[in-house]
Amino acid sequence: MTTVSTRAVVFDLFGTLVPNLSHAEFRATAEGMARAVGAPIEEFVYLYGEGTYRLRFTGELPTTEANVEYVCRLLGVRPDPARVGEAARLRTELTRRILLAPLPRALVALAELRESGYAIGLVSDCSSEVPLLWPETELAPLIDVPVFSCRAGFRKPDPRIYVLACEGLGVRPEECLYVADGVGKELSGALAVGMRAALIRVAYDEATDADRPEVLTWKGLELQALADVLAIAAGGRP
Ligand SMILES: [Mg+2]
Repeated sequence: MTTVSTRAVVFDLFGTLVPNLSHAEFRATAEGMARAVGAPIEEFVYLYGEGTYRLRFTGELPTTEANVEYVCRLLGVRPDPARVGEAARLRTELTRRILLAPLPRALVALAELRESGYAIGLVSDCSSEVPLLWPETELAPLIDVPVFSCRAGFRKPDPRIYVLACEGLGVRPEECLYVADGVGKELSGALAVGMRAALIRVAYDEATDADRPEVLTWKGLELQALADVLAIAAGGRP
């Protein structure tokens, strides 16, 4: 039996290293954004959320302002640039609050992995605020290669987004462990390119990304806490 050693760990962001965005936070902010641009509240909240998240995650709406303007156009609202800017600021501040509050043990776990010689990557389905704010975060210095879907142009589980991280890290997918809280098909997406994948179970009832079919049936590797990641990475694969 041969063993491929794990040389890199690639993390999901929301729910794994920083809190998930809750429905309540999303909604309160989107309502404020609607008021800022003078749009009808319910329509704006729906179109900013369900209506356009795919477009901002793949960078087709490349800035927060472009996203706000797109929704306003759909609603026949014509705010001036200052009001668009205020709406974008509210959304950016929400993202900043989340990004600047890493989950317990996240920084320690990343530091331990680095000290043990692992390369560290990130693959996040996210909108433009995240790469914009990334340099401000305490996570940035600890992660060698961050891949943001809005910059890459595709979302998980598209194999290209995982491969992009591996290429940046200079490792083969077989040498990578992917760690995530299991939104959509992100875990099987990682397995499909040849990575190992580990689920970290978190409370997600209130999360905006609560669609997690794989979490219900997951039989693979599992972390009880981020503190376990070093042991699982070191476990290699049969
Ligand atoms: Mg997540």
